[in-house]
Amino acid sequence: DEAVEEGARWKEYDPAKLQDAEWKLSLLGRLDAAIDGGEIWVAYQPKMDMKTKAICGAEALARWSHPEKGEISPQDFVLAAEQHNRIEKLTNHVLNDAIRVAAEINRRGLDFDMAVNLSARVLDNPDLVSTIQSILARHGLEPRHLTLEVTESAAMTSSGRSIELLENMRALGIQISIDDYGTGFSTLEYLKKIPATEIKIDRSFVSAMDKSQSDKLMVNSTIALAHSLGRTVVAEGVEKEDTLRALEEMGCDRVQGYLIGRPMPYEKLSALIPTVKAIMVA
Ligand code: C2E
Ligand code: MG
Ligand code: MG
Ligand code: MG
Repeated sequence: DEAVEEGARWKEYDPAKLQDAEWKLSLLGRLDAAIDGGEIWVAYQPKMDMKTKAICGAEALARWSHPEKGEISPQDFVLAAEQHNRIEKLTNHVLNDAIRVAAEINRRGLDFDMAVNLSARVLDNPDLVSTIQSILARHGLEPRHLTLEVTESAAMTSSGRSIELLENMRALGIQISIDDYGTGFSTLEYLKKIPATEIKIDRSFVSAMDKSQSDKLMVNSTIALAHSLGRTVVAEGVEKEDTLRALEEMGCDRVQGYLIGRPMPYEKLSALIPTVKAIMVA
C-alpha cells in the first residue's frame, strides 16, 4: 500500500528525505488556508455501470493546486494531514463538495452515487456519523447515494470502534466500499465483519490482468466471492479495452479508470454525463 510505504520513508534520516519531510511540514502550515482559499479542490472520476454503460457515479479525489509548487499529490498531503490532526478539516471539505455535487446531479433525475475516501483517523471519531448526516441534509442527498470508501486496515482497528461507526453509517442507508481490496489482509473473517455493500478491487490487480493469469484469476475469484456474499464489485484502474471486456465477462458490476475518464473538475463531469452513452457506444 502506497500510504504505508510513504510512512516508512518518513522515518529514514536521509537528508533528502528530511528535506522532503520539512517540505511537507511547511505545506501543512498552509493547509487550513489552502482549504479556505480554494487551493484544495475536489476532482471527480466517473464510474461506469457495466449493464447500462452509463456513468452511474464518481469518486471524489482531493487535489491541491499550489500557487508555487504546482499540483501536489493527495498521497503527499493526505498522509501529512492525518499525522498532524488536519484530516477532519480536509475530510469535511471533500464531503461537503462531493455531497453538494451529487445532490445537484441527482436533482436532474439521474441515479448517481458519490464515493468519498475516509482514512483510519476519521473512523475513530463517532461524531463523523452526525457530521455526515447533517451535510446530507443540508444538500438534500439521499444517504443511499453516498458511498464511503475505506481500506480493510482502516476498518479493522483493534478497538472495534471503526466497525461500529461503519455499522451506524449503514443503518442510515449510506453505502460502504472496501477500497484497494486485495492489498491488505483480505481474510474471509474481515470480509464478513466489515459491513460493506461493495468491494473495490485494487488497481494493481486490474492493470495486470491482461498480462498475468494469476491476477486475472484473483480478480475473477474476488468477483465471485463478493457476489456470493451479496456485495457489488467495482474494478479500479481500468485502462484498456481488453480489460474492460474481460471484466464484463466476469460479471463485474462497475468500472472506474482512465479508459472511462480521469479525475476531472465537476464542470467537466457534469458536461460528460448526458453524453456518456454515445461516447461508450462509439
Ligand atoms: P484511491 O482511493 O485508491 O484512489 C484511486 C487512485 O487511482 C486515484 O489517485 C486515481 O486518480 C488513480 N486512478 C484511477 N484510475 C486510474 C487508472 O486507470 N490508472 C492509474 N494509473 N491511476 C488511476 P489519486 O487521486 O492520486 O489519489 C491517491 C489516493 O489518495 C487515493 O487512492 C486515496 O487513498 C487518497 N485520497 C484522495 N483523496 C482523498 C481524500 O479526500 N481523503 C482521503 N482520506 N484520502 C484521499
Ligand atoms: Mg478510493
Ligand atoms: Mg483504491
Ligand atoms: Mg489506492
